[in-house]
Amino acid sequence: MREGFLVFGSPVIGDEEIEEVVDSMKSAWLGTGPKVAKFEKIFSEYKNVPYAAAVNSCTAALHLSLLAAGLKPGDEVITTPMTFCATVNAIIHSGATPVLADIDPLTMNIDPACIENKINAKTKAIIPVHFAGRPCDMNALCDIANRHGLRIIEDCAHAIETEYKGRKAGTFGDFGCFSFYVTKNIVTGEGGIVLANREEDFSRIKILALHGMSKDAWKRFSDEGYKHYQVVECGFKYNMMDLQAAIGIRQMAKIEEYWLRRKKIWEEYSAAFSDLPVTLPADIPSDIKHAYHLYTILIDEEKTGISRDEFLNAMHRLNIGTGVHYLSVPEHPYYQEAFGWKPEDYPNAMKIGRSTVSIPLSAKLTDKDVADVILAVKSILAR
Ligand SMILES: *Cc1c(COP(=O)(O)O)cnc(C)c1O
Repeated sequence: MREGFLVFGSPVIGDEEIEEVVDSMKSAWLGTGPKVAKFEKIFSEYKNVPYAAAVNSCTAALHLSLLAAGLKPGDEVITTPMTFCATVNAIIHSGATPVLADIDPLTMNIDPACIENKINAKTKAIIPVHFAGRPCDMNALCDIANRHGLRIIEDCAHAIETEYKGRKAGTFGDFGCFSFYVTKNIVTGEGGIVLANREEDFSRIKILALHGMSKDAWKRFSDEGYKHYQVVECGFKYNMMDLQAAIGIRQMAKIEEYWLRRKKIWEEYSAAFSDLPVTLPADIPSDIKHAYHLYTILIDEEKTGISRDEFLNAMHRLNIGTGVHYLSVPEHPYYQEAFGWKPEDYPNAMKIGRSTVSIPLSAKLTDKDVADVILAVKSILAR
């Protein structure tokens, strides 16, 4: 058994990130300032889009996108049951009603055919989640949105590097929302960013993200002289800090290196586990770029003789951290009580949620860590 616990999703933090944060601290500009502006520029250039607004989480990014999309009480927003609760909570916070459409069991992404069945006169938007870093079927989703006049808000929390037929995730919809939480592919501690397609949506998000104060209010303490601000609507405190952006600026320089490392680990896992009685991630077609955010194994007790939860415990006993992405949203009591959702009504998401395990896939893993994970998985399933 390996010595020391292998933490699931631990990020790589280099000396460059540390020095950039120290630089912010020495300049005493800790809050929203020049480094946030620089991070926004780096990210928008990476995505090749004009408008990117940094915020303090992907949850905030989703909330603001829904508000800027004009969602109101009584409106419905369709999303996937195979996601983190934040996707659904953001819809509820916007005042709209979430509606779930089941997933394709192979890709684990929202199934366009299931969306069609849920559309009615109240439907105003779709939030697809590019699960594990694999893009949703954006041709089908954009076609549905066009035919029914719906807005698309992409939840790209897993999908910083993802591309679909040569086009980058987050640029298909009206909005693309990204997370830089500690376990994500690029980290700022807490943090997120919104890409907006249209200038007016971008301006609205900028205003909503900082108390509803008129644009560029953060510049009011700069050397350009005092500027009065005006509050033009009731906004939120969702701005990113320079301390966070400092980490992100240096992380973005390593995005390709980290991606290649995770791709290699992914391929090693797939080769090592090919003979095991478990379901591995679906093959990746050549016209997409997978972000390799999560490596999921499906444990079917009938084939393995061990339940998913027993497998999780066995991995932890061997000092390997794991994750579950995700128990389907309708498994949680709040949503059952608030919306009457039942897991059985979304059978593909329910089945995957009850059998899935995510094993470590961070660029931080050493060759020895990867060998330990492979040995642990094989030894448990060989019993
Ligand atoms: C992590 C995550 C979020 C929330 O991101 P935060 O930055 O932590 O708010 C939203 N959706 C999905 C699919 C996620 O994995």
